[in-house]
Amino acid sequence: FFIALEGGDGAGKSTQVEALAEWIRGKGHEVVVTREPGATAIGKRLRSIILDVSTSGLSDRAEALMFAADRAEHVNSVIRPALERGAVVITDRYIDSSVAYQGAGRNLAPTEIARISRWATDGLVPHLTVLLDVSPETARERFTEAPDRLESEPAAFHERVRSGFLTLAAADPARYLVVDAGQEPEAVTTVVRHRLDQVLPL
Ligand code: C5P
Repeated sequence: FFIALEGGDGAGKSTQVEALAEWIRGKGHEVVVTREPGATAIGKRLRSIILDVSTSGLSDRAEALMFAADRAEHVNSVIRPALERGAVVITDRYIDSSVAYQGAGRNLAPTEIARISRWATDGLVPHLTVLLDVSPETARERFTEAPDRLESEPAAFHERVRSGFLTLAAADPARYLVVDAGQEPEAVTTVVRHRLDQVLPL
């Protein structure tokens, strides 16, 4: 069973990923927690090129392809093998991040970005995608580290990213759960658990 957590920077994805993993493990499942970009050796190198604030002159299309390359490695060497042995996989970011950041954020065509990711992943789509939705202003107040190259983009970029995510979720309500991530983390976890209780194979 394959779950993706999506949302802007500071939405609380990593906190929720950990809370959900612990809860699902408690039900007796093997859970693999992973994230993008940078879950593999090659992915880590790509991550540092893409996110380092000292990277200058990277074109929008090259950025999109590097995220796609990271994802291809991730699916091939982490996600598919885990799913094949029956584990529950929870990833912090997946295809929708590319559609929202490089598609909506960078104003590249979202459908083209989605197509590149479909090819990169050989069509692997999550059973459930949880979108943690929060305003960029609230999210920014939660930053504890210096912003990376993408986080340093202006507010208008992050507003486009947010609407990009919401557009994806609205188009496929059966596969998405949109949660107000401005709430307390415990309240967010409760909402997600409730949905997972209905869809997780036990
Ligand atoms: O979630 P995490 O902080 O690890 O993500 C790394 C950075 O990459 C974030 O700043 C996020 O905005 C950016 N990102 C992106 N496009 C993606 C995935 C992540 O711009 N497809």
